[in-house]
Amino acid sequence: MRKKIVAANWKMNLTLSEGSFLVNEILAAAPAVTASRQVVIATPFVHLTQTAAQLEGIGHIHVGAQNCSSEKAGAYTGEVSAAMLNDAGVQYVIIGHSERRGYFNEDSAMLAKKANQGLENGLQVIFCCGEPLEIRDAGTQNDYVGQQIKEGIFHLTAEQLKNVVIAYEPIWAIGTGRTATSAQAQEIHAYIRNVIAAQYGNDAAAGISILYGGSCNPTNAAELFACPDVDGGLIGGASLKADQFLAIISAMINS
Ligand code: PEP
Repeated sequence: MRKKIVAANWKMNLTLSEGSFLVNEILAAAPAVTASRQVVIATPFVHLTQTAAQLEGIGHIHVGAQNCSSEKAGAYTGEVSAAMLNDAGVQYVIIGHSERRGYFNEDSAMLAKKANQGLENGLQVIFCCGEPLEIRDAGTQNDYVGQQIKEGIFHLTAEQLKNVVIAYEPIWAIGTGRTATSAQAQEIHAYIRNVIAAQYGNDAAAGISILYGGSCNPTNAAELFACPDVDGGLIGGASLKADQFLAIISAMINS
């Protein structure tokens, strides 16, 4: 059975004390998670060791980073390597978020290298894909997203793919309050699973977790997570409020 996951993406929010407080609020009330129902909290880099210490010994609530360098080590001022993340106690790294692709010009070639770095350094990679509004309006979202996946992760071996989670995040739904309908999410998640099946076979496709992201909240989470090909969510705004994030975790556990 493939994993269901709810992953918080704090983006560039929260001071260290605010982050510590939020993690404690989540830990105080989190429903029981298991190997097949996991939680990830992806914090800014400076929070990682603090969050890792808070989550130490708490099974299946993991700390994640929001990015890593495409390079192994060296003269890359301002960058953080995947090896450093691993050493800091990080288990997951988000690669290819649309904000990184858009604001920081991260292209598929760079993302493929970042995925390599994450996997070679023992991290689970959450690989993001998703189309802008004009592509959705033109009805070509499947081709667009399929291409992102081919360019970003098809160089990986089937063994490496076992440590990859895909997050489908339509850009028009991120932070906008406009969510994909469950029918739209299910349709493209099923398509993504077919893309994986065509390259890696049915077992790999059945085993890979595909998360939905884009204005997911306590009101719509249960319906989205009930879709057969939606295996949880990547949560931005609603992950910054303990009560909202906890409600989304409960929706995942009960799905
Ligand atoms: C995200 O940025 O990954 C995201 C899903 O944000 P939001 O939930 O705020 O739309």
